[in-house]
Amino acid sequence: METTTLHGVHVSRIGLGTWAIGGTSWGVVEEKDAIATCRSIFDHGINLIDTAPIYGDGRAEEIVGKAMAEHGRREDFYIATKSGLCRIDGRVRFDARPASILQEIDRSLRRLGTEYVDLYQLHWPDPLVPMEEVADVFLRLYESGKIRAIGVSNCSATQMEQFRSVAPLHANQPPMNLFERQVAQEALPYCREHGIGVLAWSALCRSLLTGKIRADQTFPAGDVRAVDPKFQPPRITQYVQAVQSLDAYAQQHYGKRVLHLALRWLLDQPGVSAALWGAKRPEQLAPAKEICGWRLTPEDMRAIDAIVADAVRDPVGPEYLQPGARA
Ligand code: NAP
Repeated sequence: METTTLHGVHVSRIGLGTWAIGGTSWGVVEEKDAIATCRSIFDHGINLIDTAPIYGDGRAEEIVGKAMAEHGRREDFYIATKSGLCRIDGRVRFDARPASILQEIDRSLRRLGTEYVDLYQLHWPDPLVPMEEVADVFLRLYESGKIRAIGVSNCSATQMEQFRSVAPLHANQPPMNLFERQVAQEALPYCREHGIGVLAWSALCRSLLTGKIRADQTFPAGDVRAVDPKFQPPRITQYVQAVQSLDAYAQQHYGKRVLHLALRWLLDQPGVSAALWGAKRPEQLAPAKEICGWRLTPEDMRAIDAIVADAVRDPVGPEYLQPGARA
């Protein structure tokens, strides 16, 4: 496993994402499978787990806590969690008010069964709370020792600049995968310039880049992909075509599959520290060993860009996932 350094700590460049094992947005995940998935990370040299209170309304953090307790050594894990969202009438809303963050950190620590979080991230900027105010409360948590590094997620360069006027910023977590690269324009260069680590979310574009999604596939209500504009006809046909061509390229040039190519592509992007890979069962992480130890060339990068541009004529980003404002 390749590693990176986040605020002085060695972290694997692949991280387990636990949104799906929260169990409310991707179908049911049995608790024993979810715990086994969290514990299986060490089979692949992974130590990074990303979670959040909103994933299953606390369930994902509880699962991670149970996995850490079963494993027995807290220090083997690098736990990244978040605050700044809440659920009102079933809908996810921004809530980065200082009082809410101070309450959330204690709830997270309790669910995780730990005294500290390795990386604490603002889940999403709240339009009703200035970034400087949020940074101030994160700084207080950092100084108290409850959190060991400070992060944000889904923030623009301007928002990070505002945050950094008050507190140090060690990591940002933007959406980034082979099909969703808007952050490469501004946020990613900003992070590189200022030495801010980048944890890329939806590394597999919510399963599209695994190669298993068919153009006629449907998802049950409650599965996030049922409302993801990428997964709807007629656009899904373009994405599936791109995936098939990328898979053929990976096989022909490297004897690999599209899932390996997609993760390698992400890890080879300048400024990307780690790729967050959502997995529901231990076997979903099995391909991890085939992602490290090789690199894509500039020629590969150009060929991949050409495949995507040729197939995806009507691209769409992950904006549909943006939470709503409070009243
Ligand atoms: P993802 O990693 O792009 O895709 C995950 C899904 O792909 C899994 O749930 C699984 O779904 C499928 N999959 C994974 N490995 C597979 C394999 N080997 N073979 C076949 N299918 C496989 O999606 P994501 O969960 O959206 O993103 C990863 C993490 O990023 C999240 O868990 C979370 O930690 C983080 N994230 C953060 C934010 C933020 O706002 N900060 C937003 C989104 C995500 P099925 O088995 O159901 O097909």
